[in-house]
Amino acid sequence: MIEQEQKSIYLDYNATTPCDPRVVEAMLPWFYENPGNAASRTHAIGWKAEEAVKNARKQIANFIEVESNEIVFTSGATESNNLAIKGIYEQYQTKGNHIITLTTEHKAVLDPLKKLETMGAEVTYLDVKPDGLVDLKKLENTITKKTIMVAIMWANNETGVLQNMKSIGEICTKKNIFFFSDATQAVGKIKTHPKELGIDLMSFSAHKMYGPKGVGALYISNKIKVAEQMNGGGHERGFRSGTLNVPGIVGFGKAAEIAIEEMEKNATELKTLRDQLENTLLEKIELSSVNGHQTQRLFHVCNMAFKFIDGEDLMSTFNQRLAVSSGSACTSASIEPSHVLIGMGLSNHLAQASIRFSLGKFTTREEIEEVVKTITAGVKHLRERSPVWEMYQNGVDVDGFL
Ligand code: PMP
Repeated sequence: MIEQEQKSIYLDYNATTPCDPRVVEAMLPWFYENPGNAASRTHAIGWKAEEAVKNARKQIANFIEVESNEIVFTSGATESNNLAIKGIYEQYQTKGNHIITLTTEHKAVLDPLKKLETMGAEVTYLDVKPDGLVDLKKLENTITKKTIMVAIMWANNETGVLQNMKSIGEICTKKNIFFFSDATQAVGKIKTHPKELGIDLMSFSAHKMYGPKGVGALYISNKIKVAEQMNGGGHERGFRSGTLNVPGIVGFGKAAEIAIEEMEKNATELKTLRDQLENTLLEKIELSSVNGHQTQRLFHVCNMAFKFIDGEDLMSTFNQRLAVSSGSACTSASIEPSHVLIGMGLSNHLAQASIRFSLGKFTTREEIEEVVKTITAGVKHLRERSPVWEMYQNGVDVDGFL
């Protein structure tokens, strides 16, 4: 159980996970006792750091079943996404300038693509079906002679919806275009082996899988090249210059090693807790619904709409006792409804009435019971003060008011 100062219950694991204590332990010697720069070739202290990075690279490569030299370390998934998207465009733009993505991607994919549009790229943003999945026929029909890449995330950060990666990979292979996937939310939660599925580039981040913040990776298939986005020193085979974050990388490797051992057990336990949360809320709260595909989604995520209330208002009723999210954390400064839920066809009202619960391996049954009580009481409190709810109770057709 994670208890904050105000005794918050933490159900925002998709925003970030706590660092596993075993990961912290593995990292500690690399701050003071072993201070080397992994690129220092002239002394043993540097070689030791280099060895530690090599070991972590192997742990991560084993975890996703790729070669060690196909892993490029970065500062996180945002940087990995930028390297993949801008790197492919720069490297292959003479072949074509068209890229296909989804409206429901993370901003760390959408924003680099917007940047490329100012530099001459043509980007198609496909809407998804109401369950959050891309229409595969539509995807295939959108590919033109100018298309060089499809950028589709593995698991959505807001809904947990899992795309049909195998089918998308088959389409990309058939059409001979690159398949890049932001797999930040999927890695460490489900099996993510890019080579089996025709994925050429895949981003992920340590802090979503019980590792430290500020370190991530990009898998780049040996068969392809990306233009580097960070110059200066030629680290990471020239793909990403900059002194490596040795403690962070060691922690990332350890997190991958732990994930191999524990992923299956976590999945079973978390699915039980998530289903308990979801089913009890659906049962207790009238006009509540689950956003996204019911089964094809991550087992620890639950995105629910509670009609007639506002998600932000609901959160204010908890007074910080629950740490949940009303959209992705990266856009929480904005009061716009979630672009992911809107992309799935939800109304502004339902998108704003939604809350994301994301559980993790430190979540307990007692916490879930407490969350159910708190959410039920919060929704009741807000609805009792809502004139529209009262009208609805009196049989008025209120959809026009929402
Ligand atoms: N992609 C997705 C799907 C994410 O959920 C996140 C984190 N919110 C990112 C990219 C960005 O990752 P990082 O924080 O490691 O830059």
